[in-house]
Amino acid sequence: MKGTMLYGPRDVRFEERPDPSIIEPTDAIIQLSAACVCGSDLWPYRGIDPVRQPVPMGHEYVGIVEEVGSAVRNIKPGQFVVGSFFASDNTCEICRSGYQSACIHRQPGAPTGAQAEYARIPLADGTLVATPGLPSADLIPSLLSASDVFGTGWFAADAATAGPGKTVAVVGDGAVGLCAVIAARQMGAERIIAMSRHSDRQKLALEFGATDIVTERGDEGVAKIKELTGGLGAHSVIEAVGTQESMMQAIHSTRPGGHVGFVGVLHGVEIPGAPYFFSHVHLHGGPAPVRRYLPELIDLIWNRKINPGKVFDLTLPLAQVAEGYRAMDERRAIKALLRP
Ligand SMILES: [Zn+2]
Repeated sequence: MKGTMLYGPRDVRFEERPDPSIIEPTDAIIQLSAACVCGSDLWPYRGIDPVRQPVPMGHEYVGIVEEVGSAVRNIKPGQFVVGSFFASDNTCEICRSGYQSACIHRQPGAPTGAQAEYARIPLADGTLVATPGLPSADLIPSLLSASDVFGTGWFAADAATAGPGKTVAVVGDGAVGLCAVIAARQMGAERIIAMSRHSDRQKLALEFGATDIVTERGDEGVAKIKELTGGLGAHSVIEAVGTQESMMQAIHSTRPGGHVGFVGVLHGVEIPGAPYFFSHVHLHGGPAPVRRYLPELIDLIWNRKINPGKVFDLTLPLAQVAEGYRAMDERRAIKALLRP
């Protein structure tokens, strides 16, 4: 089969790879129906995360089950499945508490290599959720988004305790931030402030349910949020970038007693202790336990209540995956969908 490898900064190759096969009896092999490039893939692509050896890329996926190992009970060949970017058994005490991305049996870096024709999914019964049937083609982008970008935006909104009567501010206008707007709207937030300087992303945020746009960043962005919230700050703030500036912007935009849901992969972020101590702000985040939300998100998408697949503004054949990375790196695209 063919799959995507990252050899070093800005060196993405679509090349012949070994066909994945069942290694553990709990594995499944899926044929990808769609894959995509993640914002977090750009960290190694840009050389910020070092690439010491060629690595298979891709951790967002939907597809049709081709084969299952002897210990797989619930997932069956022929099913259309959505999976999370962390393999989890969904049965251990941590999984049952809703934190499948910290499963005690989670496998580092698995599943990976999903920007390919086929992928091996460990712990298939715990990791994968089958849809009610084979989806029509127009549902596939949204189902794909549930596997990471939308699931992550949903967790961010949940971690920030978005809900009725709340004002939610979203720091970051990438695909996760935009998906968090959809989530905050679904959770009943009264006011949703999207922080964005790009007109195409502002437009999508408004379509997804944002009520206000703030174009300022840093301290000026914080001042604007305060101005819009009677000087108090937002109840719930979503951090979907992962830099020092965005994290501090999120914390400072939150009112005392409010919540920050942070899901941008943190790079070089240090939170000063004393000011944080006096802020009375709750921080909760990390790699999203997408598996917790998959049944609910699949249901919303299947019944066409939401359309998070709209974050994909570029569709390419899988063979042109390198162009997907380039377009996202240069911010010509919000998110690239890849079709095998
Ligand atoms: Zn577990």
